[in-house]
Amino acid sequence: MAAPMPDFGKHDQKSKKPCRTCTDFTTWMKMQGKTPKKEETTNSAPLPAECPLDRDDLGRNTWSFLHTMAAYFPESPSQVQQKEMKDFVHLFSKYYPCDYCAEDLRQNLKTNTPDTSNRHQFSQWLCRLHNDVNRKLGKPEFDCRRVDERWKDGWKDGSCG
Ligand code: FAD
Repeated sequence: MAAPMPDFGKHDQKSKKPCRTCTDFTTWMKMQGKTPKKEETTNSAPLPAECPLDRDDLGRNTWSFLHTMAAYFPESPSQVQQKEMKDFVHLFSKYYPCDYCAEDLRQNLKTNTPDTSNRHQFSQWLCRLHNDVNRKLGKPEFDCRRVDERWKDGWKDGSCG
């Protein structure tokens, strides 16, 4: 039998504790009855150093990890490695600590099996997955032809050194 899904949302409702990783920093501060400093009220503003992550910093850091992991996935993975990476994605979707983000991901994975057949395919699959989220949030889509430039080789203009 499948393990029960963790339900951070319900837990938070029960304990009346708001979920910082489901909330952007400005909203989080308002929920605490605090006024964010003016420079902290834009979505792209970095959090104060060494503080727990909000939803957007968690997202940015997680995508960085996932895309980098895909960029270094084996070119010719064994059957075991292909299965392990699929399992990883499914387990990740159970424990990602933003409840509605994780729920969305689980719904997506029901019809969108991770393509772990090789490094290129997995990087492309993840790029499309990220674009699904981008679209949902009204953000521009990323050109998946450039995913290796972004996450492995650096931009062709040499700006990444
Ligand atoms: P991010 O989207 O975090 O992207 C970081 C960088 O990745 C970009 O600067 C760009 O260089 C690069 N990039 C962008 N798109 C792609 C792509 N398709 N392929 C490769 N590289 C790319 N937030 C919500 O509000 N609601 C949600 O339901 C939600 N679900 C999420 C699900 C998951 C699995 C994850 C990891 C995050 C989720 N987030 C969600 C967070 C959200 O995706 C962003 O991380 C957050 O809004 C910060 O966005 P950002 O504009 O800084 O760039």
